[in-house]
Amino acid sequence: MKIAVLSRKASLYSTRRLKEAGQERGHDMQVIDYLRCYMNITSHRPMVIFKGEPLADFDAVIPRIGASRTFYGTAVVRQFEMMGVFPTNESQGISRSRDKLRCLQLLAREGIGLPVTGFAHYTNDIDGLISMVGEAPLVIKLLEGTQGIGVVLAETNQAAKSVIEAFRGLDANILVQEFIKEAGGMDIRCFVVGGKVIAAMKRQGAEGEFRSNLHRGGYAEKIKLTPEERSTAVRAAKTMGLNVAGVDLLRSNHGPVVMEVNSSPGLEGIEESTGIDVAGKIIEYIEKNVHDKSKIKDKVKG
Ligand code: ADP
Repeated sequence: MKIAVLSRKASLYSTRRLKEAGQERGHDMQVIDYLRCYMNITSHRPMVIFKGEPLADFDAVIPRIGASRTFYGTAVVRQFEMMGVFPTNESQGISRSRDKLRCLQLLAREGIGLPVTGFAHYTNDIDGLISMVGEAPLVIKLLEGTQGIGVVLAETNQAAKSVIEAFRGLDANILVQEFIKEAGGMDIRCFVVGGKVIAAMKRQGAEGEFRSNLHRGGYAEKIKLTPEERSTAVRAAKTMGLNVAGVDLLRSNHGPVVMEVNSSPGLEGIEESTGIDVAGKIIEYIEKNVHDKSKIKDKVKG
């Protein structure tokens, strides 16, 4: 097969591993910088041009779209879809997953476990917002944050109030969330491919840190999931319409709760901590499904 990895940089760990895993299985793998592609979107023969040449005869694409490049990246994926090329994740699923609030609303609709969460932009009724979610301690998040930046733990209602006021001054969208204390600074990344959890790791925050982000000094190791965690992760990926997804869970007293669903989950941490050939599983998924057109019909309403 001829498979494109849509990625800005061939040297990135995940990109490199996907290319290697495909080549090991005898496929023609090409890394395409999607920002350098251009398209004639009005043509009745949809095409993507890269380095002056049309990208022809691809069987599948693996989108690895950076969060800040969602708009253009998903347009390129959509163009491949119109050419009949099989994507591991569809453009719609990727766009959907990039909107944290939409994610939580869809997961809630399916009855998937979530931390109690309030959402606000510019409210004067801060007390009402706090009491709707519960009592301090509370976690307050900037909707646009990544890598744990803009995620604050407020130990008292007064502290929560000050943080919400400060964020309000930034003209930002904020989430106010129940603090899952019993998670003990640990979260679980479930790597879902084709409706199965193929690898899972726990990430533990540094001493005294409630955020488990590896960028903040956390460490990762493999973990055995409970059947409920496994099924929650699979349902969350399905709800978002994603075939390949990183589902982040917290272990709460009321069962697993989903924090986030990622459509371009990194391979480095999960492969290193579990020893599983995650890239190979993604290629195998393509091999099994590339001819099944029903797999590339987004069925999520919302
Ligand atoms: P980001 O997307 O910026 O990484 P997250 O929402 O994933 O932000 O939060 C960062 C980390 O903080 C999580 O990995 C988790 O360890 C911790 N965390 C986030 N929300 C909660 C919560 N409601 N209760 C307990 N810990 C949380």
